[in-house]
Amino acid sequence: MLNLVLFGPPGAGKGTQSAKLIDKYHLVHLSTGDIFRANIKGGTELGVLAKSYIDKGQLVPDEVTIGMLADEVNKSADAKGFIFDGFPRTSAQAQALDNLLSEKGTAISMMLALEVEEEELKKRLLIRGKDSGRPDDQDPTIIQNRINVYNAETMPVKTFYEGQGKYHGINGIGEIEDIFNSLCEHIDRP
Ligand code: AMP
Repeated sequence: MLNLVLFGPPGAGKGTQSAKLIDKYHLVHLSTGDIFRANIKGGTELGVLAKSYIDKGQLVPDEVTIGMLADEVNKSADAKGFIFDGFPRTSAQAQALDNLLSEKGTAISMMLALEVEEEELKKRLLIRGKDSGRPDDQDPTIIQNRINVYNAETMPVKTFYEGQGKYHGINGIGEIEDIFNSLCEHIDRP
């Protein structure tokens, strides 16, 4: 199985690149942010809970997020592989994902990290907020909070995969197609 973690701060381009990667490699795309937003739209209990964190730019608690992710993985028993987008975002989530995949006799193949500096992220998120209507992309205070949470809670996930020799940093600034080609070079490298 090819199991990719697409990593990077909010606004790094994970969603855009995931869409291109699933087309090329026929993987199942699991974006925890997208799943939360679908639950919010559907008015589920999970959606109501998630919204209370997302609206503040905070992370949804690990036990909720890990449980939801495990359910999604279990729904796709015949997948050729997965792209995890926006997950794991904490060390506890990374460890839980390793355990879950190991129970299935598989593992994360690599982490591909889109690297974009903070000023560029803020610009991109405000533009996305106007285009998509996502409330958490429209308020500079919430955007700053998400970036701070990323630096404090999510950056250790990089160290987790570096320790396993699976971390690959990719320049996330430039043409979408060029960034995609860099990702593919890493994936296709024997
Ligand atoms: P995203 O679409 O990936 O930017 O996620 C939007 C929001 O959903 C985040 O700011 C968090 O509040 C929440 N979220 C998404 N993925 C996770 C995760 N793996 N752990 C905790 N919260 C998450």
